[in-house]
Amino acid sequence: MDYDGPVIQALASLSAQPVEINELRFENSFVAELPADPLLVNRPRQVQNACYTRVDPSAVSAPRLLAWSDDTGALLGIRRPAAAGGLATEVLGGNRVLPGMQPYAARYGGHQFGHWAGQLGDGRAITLGEVITPVGRRQELQLKGAGRTPYSRTADGRAVLRSSLREFMCSEAMHHLGVPTTRALSLVGTGDAVVRDMFYDGHARPEQGAIVCRVAPSFVRFGNFQLLSAHNEISTLKRLADYVLREHFPAQFSGPAPYADWFGEICRRTGALMADWMRLGFVHGVMNTDNLSILGLTIDYGPYGWLEGYDLEWTPNTTDAEGRRYCYGQQPQIAQWNLARLAEALLPLVPEKEQLEKGLALYADTFSAAWQRALAHKLGLAALEQPGDDELVSELFQALAERETDFTIFFRNLATPTIESLRAAYYDEDLPHPKLEAWLRRYVTRLRREKIPQSERQTKMCAVNPKYVFRNYLAQQAIDALEQGDASALERLMLVLKKPYDEQAAHQDLAARRPEWARHKAGCSALSCSS
Ligand code: AMP
Ligand code: MG
Repeated sequence: MDYDGPVIQALASLSAQPVEINELRFENSFVAELPADPLLVNRPRQVQNACYTRVDPSAVSAPRLLAWSDDTGALLGIRRPAAAGGLATEVLGGNRVLPGMQPYAARYGGHQFGHWAGQLGDGRAITLGEVITPVGRRQELQLKGAGRTPYSRTADGRAVLRSSLREFMCSEAMHHLGVPTTRALSLVGTGDAVVRDMFYDGHARPEQGAIVCRVAPSFVRFGNFQLLSAHNEISTLKRLADYVLREHFPAQFSGPAPYADWFGEICRRTGALMADWMRLGFVHGVMNTDNLSILGLTIDYGPYGWLEGYDLEWTPNTTDAEGRRYCYGQQPQIAQWNLARLAEALLPLVPEKEQLEKGLALYADTFSAAWQRALAHKLGLAALEQPGDDELVSELFQALAERETDFTIFFRNLATPTIESLRAAYYDEDLPHPKLEAWLRRYVTRLRREKIPQSERQTKMCAVNPKYVFRNYLAQQAIDALEQGDASALERLMLVLKKPYDEQAAHQDLAARRPEWARHKAGCSALSCSS
């Protein structure tokens, strides 16, 4: 009998009562097992030969709990705090470090927009400690916006409410869509103003500050390895790799080439993640190598967005509007480019380059197989394997691009494949859509060759084509309300986005196309990196 097996773990989690945050036992494996920056001086500087710097959060004036995720609380075994103030809020606002916590900021580098940027690091994120969850998994608690660290460069170490709400909500929405992601436990308003120039046009103004408590087994990024390799800190590089393998990929790679096999697994997970993003129309917006997780999680929610009108070149990030490096259609290629940079960083551990190239090939194979599978399922087909299926797909995307057609609504409504049912997806409902009409005839013929009853096909399609995604305009409405002290829009969205694939009759309005007033309003469609 395996004493740590899933049944025993499930029983343990059922019997464990949730506790207050101060009753958790904190561990610090990252701190204990990896080389530390010997200096504790908290001012911007280059750090050598270390994986992290010990640094505590800086206090804020008036922390207030603004939102809480019961799901992430349950994952950790923590009870929802009874009040908006109190001990949990003090901890999650960075005003109190609990016994057992050894807070730190991680050291990493990265390629930003295709160029090596040198040392970046956690400039405003501070990990408090690790918790072993009721089912026996390690999870890190990290505050984003918790104050300056040696990696803050010229910035203030803080985050504004609008970007924090977006990260808090989208992490949880992504999880409920079934996509690997870092999670979020809490959103705390700091009571302090943060000055930001939202449009980068010389009009800086004070905004409300906030802190998100993010949760993940690890926040290690491609860039942690890249920086060590770039600085020729090879023994530290090996220690970090060994730590990540031991803690996060236990007993997986016992063959003769463990690092190469591990790289292959990172490639596989990243390929699966890209297929998820693409199938849902999620655009990350800033796929720098410091924003790609070594565990294959979606990480660092910034100027992201969900495709509304289908457009391969769409990016929500105004900072990327010119180059469109990180637009929707580029994401799979960019992930591979980033993996190639990670492969270069791992060369000192894997002298045979061919082994790393095998990993990159596995990325391409994983992505294309997962994407083909996802497309088939989005269309209600068992597989794209019949003669004419490739044309069916390419003609569909041509039709979608011809008239501005909402990606999410289109696939959701395609369960009933008629022009009437799909009209709700057109941004101009009055325009005729001859290409789509022709495509629909072809599609309906193709459906007849599938051997499943219509109702079963519809149920299956609704289980992969979400009704609700966290559209930027919905995020902005929740932000505008919360900035006025009203959390009701946020709370309603949290509830609805827990079941994104379900019809929720009372919440139809949250599944609507982006309204015209939102097309060019800041934050409602596109937004800057300012956060
Ligand atoms: P991002 O583009 O958000 O992934 O951030 C890139 C780098 O800038 C990371 O090293 C962040 O920690 C850092 N950074 C971003 N905003 C701030 C801030 N307000 N204060 C300090 N560091 C920041
Ligand atoms: Mg980042």
